[in-house]
Amino acid sequence: MADVSVDIRNVVKAHGAIPAVDHLSLEVRKGEFFSILGPSGSGKTTTLRLLAGFEHPDQGDILIEGRSMRLVPPNHRPVNLVFQNYALFPHLTVFGNISFGLEMRRVPRAELRSLVEAALDMVRLTSKQDRLPAQLSGGEQQRVALARALVNRPSVLLLDEPLGALDQQLRQDMQVELKAIQEQVGITFICVTHHQEEALTMSDRVAIMNHGRLLQVGSPQEIYETPVSSFVANFIGVSNTLAGHIRSLNGSCCDVTVPGLPKAQAIVARPPAGAGVGSPVTLVLRPERLHLSREVSLAGFDNTIEARISKAIYNGSEMHYLLSLADGISWKARVPNAGGSRKRFLPGEAVFVRWTVGEGVVLTE
Ligand code: ADP
Ligand code: MG
Repeated sequence: MADVSVDIRNVVKAHGAIPAVDHLSLEVRKGEFFSILGPSGSGKTTTLRLLAGFEHPDQGDILIEGRSMRLVPPNHRPVNLVFQNYALFPHLTVFGNISFGLEMRRVPRAELRSLVEAALDMVRLTSKQDRLPAQLSGGEQQRVALARALVNRPSVLLLDEPLGALDQQLRQDMQVELKAIQEQVGITFICVTHHQEEALTMSDRVAIMNHGRLLQVGSPQEIYETPVSSFVANFIGVSNTLAGHIRSLNGSCCDVTVPGLPKAQAIVARPPAGAGVGSPVTLVLRPERLHLSREVSLAGFDNTIEARISKAIYNGSEMHYLLSLADGISWKARVPNAGGSRKRFLPGEAVFVRWTVGEGVVLTE
């Protein structure tokens, strides 16, 4: 397909007995900001190294811009890798770091200067081109590493935990900046991270990996709102879960019974594909989807269960409540503080937790 930039086809790569990348298939589109998200050890760095050509697949193939990379060495691939620790040359200036690769390739002086100047401009470091890396902040060093890769005009930029070395505030600023730079240069970015908020904020699409396997690919909204498994639901954001069985099914709704909740209190939910009466399922609900009330009335909602507030934490814009349900189950709820203090709940208070069918996701694994 014309709009595919990187096509990973059923790639397996083992370092010893256990595959670091296990039958991975992925298509990344041209000009896309694509993130690979997974816990430490899930095979993210190995995937990037396979794309860069520092490792070779045991099985499968990788196509970049429609061409198999099987026999293409790293320096001939249309990709550049930005390393996790930036790997800047400490004795070279910002300009020197960015121009180094071009000098190695004997790019003529005038062309080199204009390419480096364009790259400096892209990352807004023109005024700091004569500094050494040690004279830069962490965020600026990150931008030098980025410019050094962009100056080669790759088709695909590979970034390994690009913001991992930065502190929280700078990290959030750089998320916005990195996305802006990507939009400006318009090339494909494949970014690896274990930081879920970062992946959701920056990416057009996200792939979730665990144990070398691909679990789900989708837009940030799809991944957050319709996770395909409990692992994805718990890895992305905060999830409340209830494990139970389907008691009855009728069309687009099912009743789920949950051990520990009163028998009469079946939960109404959307049945997952392929599930039947008796199937074990897990209901997943996000904390911001729950409505808390002191009144028992169900008007406007499909489900209500009783709970007690065990903790109430004031977080500025929101209240974070820890709820204890029957049978030792605890849930979290987030409620915007716009309602003022009158509507807040206190620890120990009994509340009704309510939600509509569409706000929950039911999973079979
Ligand atoms: P991530 O980047 O998601 O943390 P990696 O791709 O670095 O994961 O590693 C995936 C798995 O492969 C891990 O279990 C890791 O220990 C193993 N691994 C990675 N590189 C090597 C190597 N050079 N030799 C042996 N095992 C490796
Ligand atoms: Mg890694």
